[in-house]
Amino acid sequence: MTALLDRVTAAVGSVHDPEYPGVSIAELGLVEDVAVTGDRASVQMIPTYGGCPALNFIAEDVRTAVTAVPGVEVCDVEWLRSPIWTQDRVAPHVVQFLESEFTVTLRRTDGTLVCPVCGSGTVRDTSPMGPSRCRSLAYCDDCRNPVEVMR
Ligand SMILES: [Zn+2]
Repeated sequence: MTALLDRVTAAVGSVHDPEYPGVSIAELGLVEDVAVTGDRASVQMIPTYGGCPALNFIAEDVRTAVTAVPGVEVCDVEWLRSPIWTQDRVAPHVVQFLESEFTVTLRRTDGTLVCPVCGSGTVRDTSPMGPSRCRSLAYCDDCRNPVEVMR
């Protein structure tokens, strides 16, 4: 039984975020709990942003990956309303990867932003409407680069 749970957990960990190719949903801190009862798996996840349209794709990818595990017939995916997702759920090496690969930064827990390009702290929010509903836009006054903020 434990071995099956391990395989299901590994399958969940193999699912990548559609917005950030190369980054798994587990690394982003979206996975809260994985359980297996008989041939039924249940995955509880925390959305980065409640209105993110990618949530449906992620849930579908998780169901596909988990039901491909031998011994699992059904996979339930549930998005939790609490705890709230915060940037400190993201693995530190993933934060660096997001900054270097996607010029995406995460708001620090004290609410400040740091430029992923030059490291400056003089980043100001410019628009809540980013390239997707899961990202907002900011601007670095030092290196004059637009910065995307994950939310
Ligand atoms: Zn900068």
